[in-house]
Amino acid sequence: MKLIFIGPPGAGKGTIATPICEKLGIPHISTGDLFRKAIKNKTTLGQKVQVIIELGDLVPDALTVALVKERLQDDDTNKGYILDGFPRTIGQADSLSDFSKIDAVINFTISDEQVVERLSGRRLCTNCGTGYHTETMKPQQEGICDKCGKQLIIRPDDSPVSIKNRLEVYYDQTEPLIEYYKNKNLLKDVDGSGTVAEVIANTKAMIETI
Ligand SMILES: [Zn+2]
Repeated sequence: MKLIFIGPPGAGKGTIATPICEKLGIPHISTGDLFRKAIKNKTTLGQKVQVIIELGDLVPDALTVALVKERLQDDDTNKGYILDGFPRTIGQADSLSDFSKIDAVINFTISDEQVVERLSGRRLCTNCGTGYHTETMKPQQEGICDKCGKQLIIRPDDSPVSIKNRLEVYYDQTEPLIEYYKNKNLLKDVDGSGTVAEVIANTKAMIETI
């Protein structure tokens, strides 16, 4: 089963992908992980990506596509995969269709208010890396890490201004992709507004119909 996960920041795509991948015996492929791995392994593509990221530029489509194409040749993708964070543009989607035939694009729908609520409640311990949430995963003592007792912070990415920016970027980039895959009859909406367990159940049910 070859799937693409699309959804705004805070929709929990990574969290949802993990049990689905386990069930189907397929890998979860995110471009963020691919970039980090290529840089760490100092591959030819990885060295190029590193320079671009250090300059603060966006990794160009051709380079991202090359990395994904390389990854999809690994043996663990024989039964399929879930792509997360790719494609991000129509150009990338066109390139992908040249070397892989997608079975479905799962679009996690969630309101802007809910995105803001989820992201703005996130807290992080910079000492040990443990994540919390002011509503859904409270630490025992407000603002303090359960594990190491250090102060929790709000990541700069999760500040109200950043959240608004991230949503705008998401809509700019992704609305055209949603239309693109709708026209190819590949788009499947899954309600992403419930609890993690509910969204996983909805996703599994949707996949059974593909
Ligand atoms: Zn901690």
